[in-house]
Amino acid sequence: MSYSKKILVTGGAGFIGSHLCTRLIAEGHYVICLDNLFTGSRQNINHLLKHPHFEFVDHDVEYPYQRERLDEIYNLACPASPIHYQYDAIKTIRTSVMGAINLLDLAHRTHAKILQASTSEVYGDPMVHPQNETYWGNVNPVGIRSCYDEGKRCAETLFMDYHRQCGVRVKLIRIFNTYGPRMLPNDGRVVSNFVVQALQGKDITIYGSGNQTRSFQYVDDLIEGMMRMMDSEDDFIGPVNLGNPGEFTICELAEKVIQLTGSTSRIVYKPLPMDDPQRRQPDISLAKERLGWQPVVKLDEGLVRIIEYFRDCRF
Ligand code: NAD
Ligand code: UDP
Repeated sequence: MSYSKKILVTGGAGFIGSHLCTRLIAEGHYVICLDNLFTGSRQNINHLLKHPHFEFVDHDVEYPYQRERLDEIYNLACPASPIHYQYDAIKTIRTSVMGAINLLDLAHRTHAKILQASTSEVYGDPMVHPQNETYWGNVNPVGIRSCYDEGKRCAETLFMDYHRQCGVRVKLIRIFNTYGPRMLPNDGRVVSNFVVQALQGKDITIYGSGNQTRSFQYVDDLIEGMMRMMDSEDDFIGPVNLGNPGEFTICELAEKVIQLTGSTSRIVYKPLPMDDPQRRQPDISLAKERLGWQPVVKLDEGLVRIIEYFRDCRF
């Protein structure tokens, strides 16, 4: 059986990575899924393991990885939930920075195109609203979120420098809060926390007043945007925002989850973690113009899908 491209996906056994691998296999590519299984799992890729064009490699991106021929690399390896990236902050920075260097070296050697999964966190607690790609951000370099934010910012710098200095074909996407099936029940991020709490009849934990906002993107929309970015002209490097501009307060999200699950859970208020951004909403004009992309799954529809997923999970 032939395939069209040989594609490496780091972090491929994680939430977003497993959806990306599934889609790439469906489109007829050969996929190497590389992951150290820190927050990812074999269960996420179980349906792919027997596919002749799918390979799982248990490896840590902190260390170099050798491969002869590759067409494309998607670099997603990095824990994304605050509780997971703060668990071993030094490791998180090493993953972002050493991981970027190792994969950019690999892209350089193999002449592969490489895409970095960057984040809206590069904007920190933004002073500009909504955030567009020209905004340089407001990040605390010494806070508890810095290991993630600054690690991702440094990775963006490395991508640009490998492009300018070595001619590597790079792509930068800045992903805004994304949710969907295969998030871990104990992932710690707000959508999965609220849905799992509501389904279990446990208290729904709002941190702070709940007036802070986020813009939630369903995973299928992200995968579409990500692949369009990889397929775009080489001179379109980004960074480009990929997110759903629908902006909601955390209180509004809690109410929606309670209503859609029919839960009897109570809302309780907990302290707001340090440096928690107050507002976040992507300006996606650039993605619309250059990729012809915009999200199509509305929050209520996406919530119904993740609720169904967690209802079927045994946790
Ligand atoms: P996730 O935690 O489910 O996936 C991350 C994957 O990377 C996991 O499978 C994990 O085991 C793997 N990993 C972690 N460290 C590694 C290492 N050193 N070597 C090899 N593999 C390693 O998170 P996710 O939500 O799927 O996020 C995927 C990517 O997208 C991350 O880079 C994240 O920063 C980025 N992102 C996600 C969001 C979001 O809302 N989900 C938002 C912005 C950016
Ligand atoms: N949050 C919350 N309750 C939870 C988990 C998160 O109120 O159980 C809040 C969190 O403080 C933040 C928002 O929801 O203001 C989004 O948190 P998440 O960790 O999902 O993403 P991030 O802060 O990285 O955007």
